[in-house]
Amino acid sequence: MSILVYIRNVGGQLKKQSLELTAYAKAMADTLNLEVTGLVIGTIADDELKKLGNYGMSRLLKADDEKYNQRVNRVYTRIVEQAVNEVDAKYILFPDNAQGKAIAPRLSVRLKAGFIPQVLDLPSSYEPFTVKKRAFTGKAIATVTAHTERVILTPMLNSFGLRENARDLEIQSFEPHIEEPNSRLELVGKQLSEEGLQLADADIVVSGGRGMRSSENFALLEELAATLGAATACSRPVADDGWRPADEHVGQTGKIIAPNIYFAIGISGAIQHVAGVSGAKCIVGINSDPEAPIFEVADYGMVGDAFQIIPELNALFKKHIH
Ligand code: FAD
Repeated sequence: MSILVYIRNVGGQLKKQSLELTAYAKAMADTLNLEVTGLVIGTIADDELKKLGNYGMSRLLKADDEKYNQRVNRVYTRIVEQAVNEVDAKYILFPDNAQGKAIAPRLSVRLKAGFIPQVLDLPSSYEPFTVKKRAFTGKAIATVTAHTERVILTPMLNSFGLRENARDLEIQSFEPHIEEPNSRLELVGKQLSEEGLQLADADIVVSGGRGMRSSENFALLEELAATLGAATACSRPVADDGWRPADEHVGQTGKIIAPNIYFAIGISGAIQHVAGVSGAKCIVGINSDPEAPIFEVADYGMVGDAFQIIPELNALFKKHIH
């Protein structure tokens, strides 16, 4: 029996979330006296994969035929299912992102396994399997129990953290038997977002709302982000109006992030926005309206004009950081 971790292959690179997921699985494995096995699909170098050993993974199955480089959820689900059977996995972990959300429910149906998304903590019990999860877009925490033989989880980013726990990692080639061709879906194009620090990986996020007034004014936030080594984000109307790229939109209908520091600048703090950032360890609200709802959730607040405050903050940070 083992714990299987789905490792996301991002163009031959690992993301922090996979290391975190491995550390989470290792903590479960230590309690249950099990091994952590990973599965990665598509081409990726062993040197990159070895990082997983630092967080407690002891075995990794690699389905690296290049025909799998293009993710087709239906095919990936079959590959994971075969890996589950290969290693007799009782617990299967996916990242809580678009990929996890696409594959985990499909797998849950095929395996008749309980599926618990948006997990916030380590299980409090294994018999029966009980864990805390996010509910109602982050406004509540539910404690749920799965009574199935197998359980699928998607732990949320930053809910556990990175804990090193070095193991010798054995990387094995895995050849799934996929009879169906990938013909139901055809990729007709791909548009990669611009290079830069990815939101999900960022420790610091500088985010702007409609209070920034125009697309051009976001240059101020980009400068601040560059000083802090931060990623940039925005509220939904800002993305809807095309001031910022759609993949920067955070909130109920956008990305859910949990950085260490989140700067909400010219953002009112509507519940739908806060739903995407309530996991941040520290929220700094900057708003000219002292009654703005962002101040109800902010750990630090600055009331004033962003166009005055941001250049001053940036100069201060520059002085102290560089
Ligand atoms: P506004 O509400 O217009 O706020 C602008 C803020 O800037 C104000 O508080 C104002 O005081 C401040 N301001 C103005 N000038 C300055 C200045 N010079 N300096 C400092 N501050 C200034 N929204 C999201 O963000 N993410 C979501 O995922 C999302 N999902 C939604 C889902 C549904 C079903 C619905 C109905 C809505 C959703 N929304 C979402 C929209 C959400 O309700 C709000 O309308 C939106 O978040 C408001 O964006 P904002 O704060 O940028 O703009």
